[in-house]
Amino acid sequence: MKSEKNKSSELKGISASAGIAIGRVYILDRANPCILQHSIADSHIKEEINRFKRALEKSKLQLKEVREKARKDIGAKHLYILDAHIMILEDATLIENTINIIKGQNVNAEWALKESLESFLKKFEGIGDEYLRGRKKDIEQVVYRVLRNMMGYHMESLADLEEPVIIVAHDLTPSDTIQIKRERVLGFATDAGGKTSHTGIMASAFEIPAVVGLKNITEKAKNGDSIIVDGIDGTVIINPTADIFQSFLKKQQKFKYHENELLKTKDLPAITKDGRRVTLLSNIEYSDEVDLAIRYGAEGIGLYRTEYLYLKRDGLPAEEEHFLDYKKVASSITDGYSIIRTLDLGGDKFISEPGDKEANPALGLRGIRLCLKRLDIFKTQLKGILRAGHYGKLKLMYPMISGIDEVREANHILEEVKGELKLKGIPFATDIEVGAMIETPSASIITDLLAEEVDFFSIGTNDLIQYTLAIDRINEQVAYLYQPLHPSVLRIIKGIISSAEKNGIPVSVCGMMGGDPVYTLILLGMGNIESISMDPHSIPRVKKFVRQIKYEDAVRIAGEILSLKSIEKIKEYLNNEIPKIYPEDLDSQISNQVTGREIKSYGVKAQGF
Ligand code: PEP
Ligand code: MG
Repeated sequence: MKSEKNKSSELKGISASAGIAIGRVYILDRANPCILQHSIADSHIKEEINRFKRALEKSKLQLKEVREKARKDIGAKHLYILDAHIMILEDATLIENTINIIKGQNVNAEWALKESLESFLKKFEGIGDEYLRGRKKDIEQVVYRVLRNMMGYHMESLADLEEPVIIVAHDLTPSDTIQIKRERVLGFATDAGGKTSHTGIMASAFEIPAVVGLKNITEKAKNGDSIIVDGIDGTVIINPTADIFQSFLKKQQKFKYHENELLKTKDLPAITKDGRRVTLLSNIEYSDEVDLAIRYGAEGIGLYRTEYLYLKRDGLPAEEEHFLDYKKVASSITDGYSIIRTLDLGGDKFISEPGDKEANPALGLRGIRLCLKRLDIFKTQLKGILRAGHYGKLKLMYPMISGIDEVREANHILEEVKGELKLKGIPFATDIEVGAMIETPSASIITDLLAEEVDFFSIGTNDLIQYTLAIDRINEQVAYLYQPLHPSVLRIIKGIISSAEKNGIPVSVCGMMGGDPVYTLILLGMGNIESISMDPHSIPRVKKFVRQIKYEDAVRIAGEILSLKSIEKIKEYLNNEIPKIYPEDLDSQISNQVTGREIKSYGVKAQGF
């Protein structure tokens, strides 16, 4: 009989990087140190403060060493993560608070730092934005490093791994992930983390399968256990039975085979059997991702979400930083174009004064609204985009447009900025194309008016669904209601596409609906979509699908579902029709080797947007 320890168990988490990894567990022990409070005499206060300062210095030195090593191993890429961590160690509020607590309460430095951390983290309470919640983790990780240094813990390093393993950890710090040797890490499985956590971003960039948010995998797995990390379905299996092992081995082979097969046709055009052509572009979150996008066959960048540029650092990026970053994108995409979206942060996504907190941040001062209030931020970014546009084909687009005045005002500022650059004799893209994201119901109703002000539309289905259905896209409680196949969503998208056609303005899609073959079919069937932009990994799959269907079928199917009254009926219809026009397994079925293929999954998948 098997021991309890070796019993097979399955855990469900969030898939952060696709692929299947099979191997042995390596537990990276980064458990939070247990901190106790001790009183200290007045005469020891000075030494206690010095002990704290020495731990800060030691931590800084360790991080700088990691940074130096990473710079040699992987170049400048991703080093900003470590820079941000080093900066946390220099944060005056955190340091002063800790020293004041030691002095004021006569307590040990560990306790004082823990107290200080807690009050620091309170500032993050109530922040809805997933990315910023992730930054809270960064601060914790840095402070825990200092605590461990004070308490004399040894910090093991991933750089020392001797054989290929699957890393199991509570959470991984950027200094962990940055040190990994690609060939020694088969996969990641962590208790904490979400889709946009550093582990997820880095794993995806390194193309290592990862499942995060598993809650208690560190309690369930032991060093040396066999483990399967299914980054396709977000599942982890510890000590699989022989049957499960075999089925995942097949799934792994199938995934690899599909990936390779798909990549063979990645450079072919996305054109339907009956000659309808659509451009497939990539969404990116940071400029380094352009290489990945090209590798997956993107014909250009349909959405560069520039928020990361602001969030990865303390303070605001300078014009030069914007310029260099966008120039890199512009010069990497030689045949197509890249669309830089102006800043889409705001509300409580900016950590600033506590008084700035908004009750409804999704309906608050975000996107273009914030930019029009903070002209300093907006102009700096516009200058960077315009200047970079001189070195390659760039377009720019405004997020969260809800009315015509916003576009007019933004365009007016754009002209002002052009004037300033001209006056200084700095080269820039004089005739840069400008687009509006159509992602609010309001914008979708006035597309005829907006068409007079901009050169193109890009439908942001993620927000459009959120605002149309009144479903907070990051609230798990209502995720089941987030339905791209809701008749009102389908009608609103159809309306935008038809209006764009009528008003002679190109329309594209850049929300996550575009990354799923079935939604692509529906979008194509609704009218003349110029391009669809999606996460890079989805491009080969969507391309293959487009190349094997007929446009006339897409039109027929889209027309039919627009006449159906309920999501259920729509799903039922698609369930019958899709296999008829695409008898080959849809590539999403790689994941269904084990789970079984059902069109229901489209709705479920969509909830994760
Ligand atoms: C969208 O809303 O669909 C979109 C593409 O933008 P984001 O997901 O960044 O809000
Ligand atoms: Mg949006």
